[in-house]
Amino acid sequence: CLLACTVSLASAASFPYQNPALPTADRVQDLLSRMTPEEKAGQLVQINVTSLMVGNGYTRGPLDPDKLGAVLGKAHVGSVLSGGGAAPVPNTPAAWAEMTNALQTYALNASPLHIPLLYGADGVHGHNNVLGATLFPHNIGLAASFDPVLAQQVATSTGVAMRATGVNWNFAPVADLGRDPRWGRFYETFGEDPSLVAAMVAAQIRGFQASPLTGVAATVKHFIGYGQAPDGTDRAPATVSASTLKALMLPPFQAAIDAGAASVMVNSGSLNGEPVHASPQLLSGLLRDDLNFGGITISDWDDVDRLKSVYRVASSDQDAVKQAVVAGIDVMMVPTRADDYSVIVAQLARAGTLSTARLDQAAGRVLALKFRLGLFEHPFVNASEAAARVVNRDLAYRAASASMTLLKNSESGGGPLLPLSARTPRVLVVGPAANDARFQLGGWSVDWQGVPAGVNVPAVTVLAGLRANPPGGVSVTYQDGSRPADLQQAARNADVIVSVLGEQPGAEGKADSPALALSADDLARVQLLHTLGKPVVTVLLAGRPLDLRSVLPASDAFLMAYLPGSEGGRAVADALWGARNPSGRLPFSWPARPDALPSTLASPSSVPPLFAFGSGLSYTQFSERALDINAAARRASVTVSNVGPRAGQHTVLAYDGSGAARHLVAVGTVRLEKGETKTVALTWLPAAK
Ligand code: BGC
Repeated sequence: CLLACTVSLASAASFPYQNPALPTADRVQDLLSRMTPEEKAGQLVQINVTSLMVGNGYTRGPLDPDKLGAVLGKAHVGSVLSGGGAAPVPNTPAAWAEMTNALQTYALNASPLHIPLLYGADGVHGHNNVLGATLFPHNIGLAASFDPVLAQQVATSTGVAMRATGVNWNFAPVADLGRDPRWGRFYETFGEDPSLVAAMVAAQIRGFQASPLTGVAATVKHFIGYGQAPDGTDRAPATVSASTLKALMLPPFQAAIDAGAASVMVNSGSLNGEPVHASPQLLSGLLRDDLNFGGITISDWDDVDRLKSVYRVASSDQDAVKQAVVAGIDVMMVPTRADDYSVIVAQLARAGTLSTARLDQAAGRVLALKFRLGLFEHPFVNASEAAARVVNRDLAYRAASASMTLLKNSESGGGPLLPLSARTPRVLVVGPAANDARFQLGGWSVDWQGVPAGVNVPAVTVLAGLRANPPGGVSVTYQDGSRPADLQQAARNADVIVSVLGEQPGAEGKADSPALALSADDLARVQLLHTLGKPVVTVLLAGRPLDLRSVLPASDAFLMAYLPGSEGGRAVADALWGARNPSGRLPFSWPARPDALPSTLASPSSVPPLFAFGSGLSYTQFSERALDINAAARRASVTVSNVGPRAGQHTVLAYDGSGAARHLVAVGTVRLEKGETKTVALTWLPAAK
């Protein structure tokens, strides 16, 4: 602990709210009855941890006792977050645990009623803010597994990692649909299909929240319409018809709420002209009355202020806070000044502008979560255990492997080019993305925009993966491609080229990509390799379907690896060597061109997609027959045979094809040996009609 981890609870030990045997609702009522409006107001505010550190609010450093006193003490602020990857220095799991313990100690001692803190962070592919944590594939790759059980395991592991460092509130999963790949947050989504997204999101909610004491509270985000970014522009005003909202946008949120999501984060943008943060109709009517949500509604970063500064629907900070809280926001993330919103809320309450009932409702929801997470009884974590809990390499490998999606595998020298074997013994790996983990980790990795230059993270790169375990008789060499003469020389001595292309890491609006273009260097290298007359296997490390018009014709085989995380290199290598037969399927339609959007199952473009939703090849072949479907009973089965040359896993996708716009209703996966046949019971997706 930076401060002493001791708290004197003895004086208050006899209050009913401190009795864990009582129902949560009774504890909340008792606690609220003992709180002043100022103390309640603090529960509605969340500040960034950098506001508590020595420095100017942006830099990272040790905790500042004066700021702790003003914010956690005097202003009673009830929750803290690590926004944009804000981390302690050094950024180790133990330092995180010590920092959160110190904050809990401070808050518990400063508050007369000994109320612990909620601590939030974005664990969107593992506990990705922490140096040394295993990073799973980003959601778009996880979705390619079509396997909610796997998504749940990943979330459980992420929750354990976060909680071990004292983070108890996760701002994940994203339930926005990925319908426009130009959007910088496409890779945070589970793709375009509402039923698949609903199934994956519900599974992740169950995983994050698997255990109150060792997991985290989940946040389904961003309610509602955020993923409808027009032209792929982050936070741009969205226009969505009532029927589209109902058919496409709401099912994932409904599934998350049905799965018990503790909180909902609100869309930063505006929907049909109305800023969502000030919309009683959306935040109270739709979310509470129609979807039956009973948990915490949290604003997005700085978005209450934006009601004044961007949307100009509020005349002052006071007006912005009033509108947001009255509309239905329970917790405001990041006020303009760390202590001001709690002062404003208390003033509004004392003046009667904000009803006591609404203040108690919002504060009560926050306190209820603190009780459910066991924070009153167990506010601290064991710093010496944290490092071991943030690592889960086997699961990361399994998840990355299940995502690998083979999209092209041409004949070359008497058989398909892949898997590689002693038939092409000299393998030349090309491209900087093969040898730099930042490309496989993407944004939200150590830092908001991805691993900062110069920071080393534990990860297996594609090159390291290929070098680790080549088949007998196969050698692996590498060229980054920066010197074309060396590259041409090396290619002359190679039998096959593995060309690894990578998208620059990035997050949110900074990662918007209007042209879906690969870098000029990657494109030039693709053209050069094409002239060398050697077979080329292209591996793409990217969070979205990039423009492949000049890449695909220059590739004999093409593997979509998404942003596969810290074990990604092992997964790519095993797919290329055939140690594991690729089984991923595209969770989106791959547009033929960036100007042929939208291109989705639900809104087909007049230009057919380059690869349809669900595309994905294998090194074997499967046949499906005897589909038995009973939609009324939400049951389906199909008989699958492996009629090809080797074992493999097959994913069955069943669609509702009753209209021009299709959508998925059921999925199932089966592993079959060569020649084997099985009947597979499909899982009916929660949101499917
Ligand atoms: C993002 C949220 C995220 C929050 C906190 C915002 O910029 O839109 O998704 O949870 O930051 O880091």
